[in-house]
Amino acid sequence: MWNKRKGIEAGDTVILWLTRDAVQPLVVTPGKELNNRFGVYRHSDFIGKLYGSKISSRNGRGFIHVLRPTPELWTLALPHRTQILYVADIAFITAMLGLKPGSIVLEAGTGSGSFSHSLARTIGPHGALHTFEFHESRVNRAREEFQAHGLSDIIDISHRNVCKDGFGLENAADAIFLDLPAPWDAIPHVRTALKKDRAARICCFSPCMEQVLRTVAALNESTFSDVTMYETLLRPSEVQPISLQSVDTVADKLKIGEVQKEARRLRQIEASVGGQKRKLEELDSAADSADSNDGTTIQQQDPKHNGPALSKTTIDTAIVSKAPQEVRGHTSYLTFATLLPVAAVTLWIAEEKASADGL
Ligand code: SAM
Repeated sequence: MWNKRKGIEAGDTVILWLTRDAVQPLVVTPGKELNNRFGVYRHSDFIGKLYGSKISSRNGRGFIHVLRPTPELWTLALPHRTQILYVADIAFITAMLGLKPGSIVLEAGTGSGSFSHSLARTIGPHGALHTFEFHESRVNRAREEFQAHGLSDIIDISHRNVCKDGFGLENAADAIFLDLPAPWDAIPHVRTALKKDRAARICCFSPCMEQVLRTVAALNESTFSDVTMYETLLRPSEVQPISLQSVDTVADKLKIGEVQKEARRLRQIEASVGGQKRKLEELDSAADSADSNDGTTIQQQDPKHNGPALSKTTIDTAIVSKAPQEVRGHTSYLTFATLLPVAAVTLWIAEEKASADGL
């Protein structure tokens, strides 16, 4: 995995955080210069600085932050050769496949290696990721990156068309992830590659429903069970501060409401009986002044509260998050399934047969 040193050295891959939307990787190379709208920086300026440091530009035009790479930051910063998986899907797939340190995982295709980096961290040095890609230059670029990031002991990448030639592995993997245009063509090979002595899992990532339907048919045909499809939807959350009123203020407002209700009731009585005019005027004027002062008048009249009115009406704020009803985005359909262990399947077939024979 990426180095764990506190300080930056020549040759390190760092992540430059320019803005929230501008995050880029950089290999620190003495003698080179970085020139962008946030200023001019010599790579040598980064050497010896702590990861996470804020560095000011040489021409005083701005600053940047220099961060230690993580799989999440790499996903934001990596050079795209293909469409990639982002953290929402990565987290969900990792959890639903039950991946953990020591897991043996197969992935096809590798693409830009976004998911591969997260997988490598999850399974750790005791696990193994065998990743497959049929586009040769993508294989070479990904291999270089895995090597540079210290992941070669965990990830092994092969140049291979998995739909045509399979995975070249038998009874080997705890889980398989397919991000391919035609995953159904690879599913018979997946059956061969998954372990048979335990429940093994598969996930297929597809952007459209027609692909999902063909994948589900292929999974059923290859005796996978528990076939379930999830749609990943993106819903933005708006985070904003709101005012919090004190209990006293709210209680006083309720009292004002009571006064107004009473005034209404008396007005009705006056209309029918008359004679309550004076009381009614008093109540109306109390309600009016309470209305215009946002509760302060009643607070001042309240013998329980002798302090200055402001201390009781002090308004705190809290940060809340609101999700608009409308759903804004869709990333993918994720189809999961389980290949049950041979023993369990054999037992189930025997039981089915026995019940059919009326035993
Ligand atoms: N999940 C990857 C990531 O997060 O970076 C992106 C995968 S990309 C969308 C799909 C990749 O599958 C492409 O690079 C493509 O070349 C590869 N591919 C398509 N069909 C394949 C096959 N039959 N065997 C191996 N790789 C294949």
